[in-house]
Amino acid sequence: MTARSIDGKRSAQETRAAAGRAAAELKARSGIVPGLATVLVGEDPASAVYVASKEKACRELGLNSFGIRLPASVGQADLEAQVDILNERPDVHGILVQMPLPQHLDADAIIDRIRPEKDVDGFNTVNVGLLAQRGRRPRFVPCTPAGVMVLLEHTGLTLAGMDTVVLGRSNIVGLPMAMLLQRADATVTVCHSRTRGLAEHLRRADLVVAAIGKPEFVRADMLKPGAVVIDVGINRVPDPTQARGYRLVGDVDFAGAKEVASWITPVPGGVGPMTIAMLIKQTVQAAEAAARRT
Ligand code: NDP
Repeated sequence: MTARSIDGKRSAQETRAAAGRAAAELKARSGIVPGLATVLVGEDPASAVYVASKEKACRELGLNSFGIRLPASVGQADLEAQVDILNERPDVHGILVQMPLPQHLDADAIIDRIRPEKDVDGFNTVNVGLLAQRGRRPRFVPCTPAGVMVLLEHTGLTLAGMDTVVLGRSNIVGLPMAMLLQRADATVTVCHSRTRGLAEHLRRADLVVAAIGKPEFVRADMLKPGAVVIDVGINRVPDPTQARGYRLVGDVDFAGAKEVASWITPVPGGVGPMTIAMLIKQTVQAAEAAARRT
């Protein structure tokens, strides 16, 4: 079997275009332009690149982008004061504090300082609680697993009753991914670094979501024939044939897995592009909710 490829670039473009249209409609209706504040502490080059892409996406889609740059030496109280200012600003509908923060800062306290109505990254404990509880409606959901759900919708597969394995249990990907799949009535097994018999769990799964940050860890022989494989991993491996000296691979051995799976996401071009698209979508939703409150 050769798996069908799930095109994350196209889905991301569609999601972004829809968010751009919703932003334009909101502006026409209420005069409100959705605004995202991006807080970058320090000068970590990877974080700077991520923040710049988020700001660019806002501008391209007609949203306001407010970039806040703070030195790596900023103290907890000053950073919290900055978040408080953004919480109060009516033109800021979403607040994103780029992680990781320097060691001396308490990231959890900062995330919880963001008002839940503006927590478009979906990491605030109030929003995670709404996601976790049955019968509650999550306001915002962490963007990467939310993007995976959109990709799964596009396959037209029925998740209810499916045996699924989520590999990884981070707050950013694995844990909310498991909660989202459970909300979609899938049967969810969460595997992590202490899991015994990992390959047996994987071989039983109709759907595998891999998010561990280990290059090409999931091999074809660990998959059930016909499984759906979603690869969240983004790993750099040295490659002297590339001008930049490395190439990007996922947590799944794509070449082998595509011969066994029914659907698979490539890396790059699978899950990756969905994250910013979902951030923009949730920022527009935050602005729409703010408009309803006024
Ligand atoms: P973390 O390092 O926070 O979490 C890794 C998880 O994988 C942990 O739960 C860990 O288990 C588990 N794990 C590690 N090694 C193994 C192993 N050998 N066997 C089983 N489980 C293992 O990573 P993230 O969740 O932040 O990211 C995961 C991957 O997804 C990375 O490659 C990252 O770059 C990528 N990513 C991609 C995004 C995108 O597409 N936009 C966004 C975010 C992340 P334990 O809990 O026991 O330590």
